[in-house]
Amino acid sequence: NKRIVFVITPTYKRLTQKVDLLTLCHSLSLSRAQVKWIVVEDSKNPTPLVSNFLSLCPVSSVHLSVRTPHKKPKLWWFQKIFVKRSSWRHRGIDQRNMALQWLRDKYSTQNCHEGIVYFADDDNRYHYRLFDTISKTVKISVWPVGFVGGILYEGPVCYNNTVTKWKSWAVNYDPERSFPIDMAGFAINLCQLLEKPLANFNNSWSRGQLETEFLHQFVTSKEELECRGSDKEVHVWHVKTAKPSISKSHQLQHFLET
Ligand code: UDP
Repeated sequence: NKRIVFVITPTYKRLTQKVDLLTLCHSLSLSRAQVKWIVVEDSKNPTPLVSNFLSLCPVSSVHLSVRTPHKKPKLWWFQKIFVKRSSWRHRGIDQRNMALQWLRDKYSTQNCHEGIVYFADDDNRYHYRLFDTISKTVKISVWPVGFVGGILYEGPVCYNNTVTKWKSWAVNYDPERSFPIDMAGFAINLCQLLEKPLANFNNSWSRGQLETEFLHQFVTSKEELECRGSDKEVHVWHVKTAKPSISKSHQLQHFLET
């Protein structure tokens, strides 16, 4: 099998960054699929911490960086105090787009056939078998993701590789959301991406609409998707590593050392 799974991971500086990346490195290393890990840091330049880490991870990788401009909207403190609205923003948009650009620069519609693209955030947990599933993608494949949106798992319900319905907290509440799945719940063939050179992630999309809006650039109905996995076989979980309780001075030391 000559197929390559391109795994796109945005990452940013925090105490648990290396621990999260290590967990993902281990899952990728155990997989039998051929993986190319595209790690995109949310920073002006690639940092020594991540480049040293990647040099010791046995997975073939590419290291890029782009800083998210204006992480907080203008007057965010005003909104928080007086309007009581949180300063919410999508995360990892510019980083994912940079990785897509890297792929578009490197591949063409002539040599894209063996490539599959997957967006793996750095803090989720991935079963190594997930990447074998991803490598079988023909056009766009989908599967359930554990612990999303207040339910045990969210995603497609499959019958014979076809999506029969969606299982999601939002299906009743937001019927317009045609593909109620998490970022970790789909993979797309590289040729699809190259055939739509303008398809990207966009900061102006509303909250919770990132995956649906992205997929809508390639497909319009659930019948076009390849349904993988089942609810009894969740292979990826949307979790967050708890921030360790470390004194302020030691946190500073950690950042100075790495
Ligand atoms: N991320 C980033 N810059 C930030 C915050 C997050 O690059 O300022 C990355 C993060 O490392 C992760 C992805 O963007 O790979 C999604 O972030 P997060 O998991 O916090 O978002 P959630 O899925 O929980 O909404």
